[in-house]
Amino acid sequence: MIKKNDKVQILAGKDKGKAGKVLQVFRSDNRASVEGLNLLIKHLRPNRKGEKGQRIEFPAPLNMSNLMIICPKCSKATRLNYEVVGEGKNKKKYRVCKKCNQKI
Ligand SMILES: [Zn+2]
Repeated sequence: MIKKNDKVQILAGKDKGKAGKVLQVFRSDNRASVEGLNLLIKHLRPNRKGEKGQRIEFPAPLNMSNLMIICPKCSKATRLNYEVVGEGKNKKKYRVCKKCNQKI
């Protein structure tokens, strides 16, 4: 599961191979936006006559299946394993790097 502020690598699309920080996760759409990547330009119309329209660049959300987390411990793009520690109220689920087996 990718979370906000994770570093991820993009596996498909125009920014394939690039890496960046996750800005926002859209869990219901299974998408996430990544800082500086997959940028789209939105044109805003002028509100009044004589004003110029504005162009705003924003990172369009990418499908999670096209993102791979970069492990902060070993710096490799990796898939995740999950490890559950404790029971009941104290149960905690950790993400574990498949490459170096460290908790992320
Ligand atoms: Zn690792």
